[in-house]
Amino acid sequence: MTTSIIGFPRIGKNRELKFATEKYFKHDLSQESLEKTAKEIRIENWNLQKQAEIEYPVSNDFSFYDQVLDTSRFLNAIPKRFQDLNLNALETYFAMARGLQTEKIDVKALPMKKWFNTNYHYIVPELSSETQIKASTDQILESILEARKSGIETRPTLVGPYTFLKLATYTENARPEDFIASFQTAYKLLLNELDKNNVTWLQIDEPALVLEQNDADLELFKTLYQEILKEKKTTKVLLQTYFGDVRDAYLTLLALDFDGIGLDFVEGRESLHLIERYGFPENKILFAGLVNGKNIWKNNYQKTLDIISQWPKNIHFVLSTSCSLQHVPVTITSETQLSQDILNHFAFATEKLQELHELDAIVFHGNTAFLVENERYFTGNRIKKDDALAQKIDHLTALDFERQPSFSKRLEIQKEALKLPLLPTTTIGSFPQTKEIRVARLAHKKNELSDDAYEQFLKEKITQWIKFQEEIGIDVLVHGEFERNDMVEYFGQQLSGYVFTQKAWVQSYGTRCVKPPIVWGDIRRPNPMTVKWSKFAQEQTQKVMKGMLTGPVTILNWSFPREDISLKESTLQLALAIQEEVLDLERAGIRIIQIDEAALREKLPLRKSDWNKEYLDWAIPAFRLVHAKVKAETQIHTHMCYSEFTDIIPAIDAMDADVISFEASRSDLSILDSLKENHFKTLVGPGVYDIHSPRIPSVEEIETQIERILEKVPVDHVWINPDCGLKTRASKETKESLAHLSEAAKTYRKKY
Ligand code: GLN
Ligand code: ZN
Repeated sequence: MTTSIIGFPRIGKNRELKFATEKYFKHDLSQESLEKTAKEIRIENWNLQKQAEIEYPVSNDFSFYDQVLDTSRFLNAIPKRFQDLNLNALETYFAMARGLQTEKIDVKALPMKKWFNTNYHYIVPELSSETQIKASTDQILESILEARKSGIETRPTLVGPYTFLKLATYTENARPEDFIASFQTAYKLLLNELDKNNVTWLQIDEPALVLEQNDADLELFKTLYQEILKEKKTTKVLLQTYFGDVRDAYLTLLALDFDGIGLDFVEGRESLHLIERYGFPENKILFAGLVNGKNIWKNNYQKTLDIISQWPKNIHFVLSTSCSLQHVPVTITSETQLSQDILNHFAFATEKLQELHELDAIVFHGNTAFLVENERYFTGNRIKKDDALAQKIDHLTALDFERQPSFSKRLEIQKEALKLPLLPTTTIGSFPQTKEIRVARLAHKKNELSDDAYEQFLKEKITQWIKFQEEIGIDVLVHGEFERNDMVEYFGQQLSGYVFTQKAWVQSYGTRCVKPPIVWGDIRRPNPMTVKWSKFAQEQTQKVMKGMLTGPVTILNWSFPREDISLKESTLQLALAIQEEVLDLERAGIRIIQIDEAALREKLPLRKSDWNKEYLDWAIPAFRLVHAKVKAETQIHTHMCYSEFTDIIPAIDAMDADVISFEASRSDLSILDSLKENHFKTLVGPGVYDIHSPRIPSVEEIETQIERILEKVPVDHVWINPDCGLKTRASKETKESLAHLSEAAKTYRKKY
């Protein structure tokens, strides 16, 4: 074996899995048909890997929704309330992922969280004292046998027990220790079954090892695996890590009886040091993550060779990717609109297989032709540099990053200017992107609908939804973002320096995919981007219309960034562009401007000790640069898509926004305690209901949430809003839910 990957995208080249699954959800497709689509994708993926001469393509990396949820199913960690539904296995699985509301059933989905430092979301496992861990290996074995039928021998993969225990939530006094023995039994059973089926390798993913580890963590890891590995007979075990280096766990890993260890040399800054300093045992195989699984640029073969050349000579290694390729799009061959000159610089999942193949030829067979060919893309002048922009950034001073007057003074001024009631209600920006809207956008794109007709159509939608918001009594309105396909792509398309793909989709969660734009060069804003729509919307109402922008950190975090300049440099370029937009909105009479930093937390280094110097020290000032020049009476909102931020409260306050809303209900408002303890400066709008599921919260349910918020946060610091992402919902459920929200807020307001 000389090449290997950790996982391949499972959405299909044309998002076949998404479309089939969504049809199945609507009862327009049978389970058999859905399973047929899934099978076709798996076979296609294995064949691609085979064609690239990967000896053991990966199996069980396919998932109908999420690989962590699959592991919950493997372990039978299915909360009782889902088992009690008495549905079939797949229906139970989807009920955990999405919740289920029928005439007789009403269960909420399990919470969802970001998968380490990616934009992928996993379903958080729930372990309670009632959980009966019991391995069910059917799915894993079936996929191995399915591949064998096509003549392909695979290496199954699954999330390991340590990462699973670290990611799980615990209810009813359950603790991680309670599950050690049963997890050991489950993974041993799996090893045993694989052995019986003559499977050569098992890949166990333990990305949690790249986080900071204390002695107790390492002890837990050791305890788990010492026992599991006792079951090893002929099936070999690869312990795979990714998203960073294992600097705290390296020696622990070496001391255990793994046959292969997968390390990340792309994001793992210390990986090279670790093997230089401590060596790597001759009796183990190093699965070396050299090809970037998260970005779309061609691998720089010379740089890769430079890394390899620094390893001790006697290492037995396999060339691999830095993480699963599920984080990059499937293939550049679907792109028909980008010039070959541009595409030549990219490698998506399928092309990365080819890169591994070429690297194999260079490293193990001395083929230099590939090396010479590859060098071309890293030597010439790929783009023309914007020198004026570089100078502007160089000349920024501290004043450019400080808004005046101070927060507390602004608060008073804004109170006067905006005259909002107590517990003001608003939404996070988007309204349902219905089929009608998508059809119109597509027709416009294909020139089947004229600019005027399309604009007219959008204006009607905006007007309808403004009316609706007025009817139910929302205080700060939004125009609905109907003109936007996506909160990043929409801006990217209007900024220079970006390039776009047509089919470069990446799974975000479940059936939801995103198509990140690519930062190709230096960024400028040639024209206003949102002013026309916000201005039109404001003209339709007496109420305050909120302007809606995406912040620089999020735009960059949800793009594929350049690798030839720093993230900081690109972020500052974006910040200057968005700053121009903010000031234009203000000039157009928009009094509240929301600058979404949905993804700010996502790119926090996984190790806390790196947070400030490697990220926050430039990301937070970049946000301040965007709004530092607005007037005191203009209220700046921001929004974040996660519930855990106890640990970055000082950083969030340092963004110096006036109001922040955040996604909260799916993690059951667990954030509130920390808000209370930390005396958060910024006003807050924790989402009071979960929009990821079609179920409609009752008025009482929302009142309970408001009550819980008010127990912790002073009433004049609270805004009432749902979670973000209403664009993914249907109109009917959105309207009913929002009417309930407004009613609940009004009830509460009267109490003060
Ligand atoms: N303004 C966006 C919306 O409401 C924010 C989306 C997000 O937070 N991801 O959809
Ligand atoms: Zn959000």
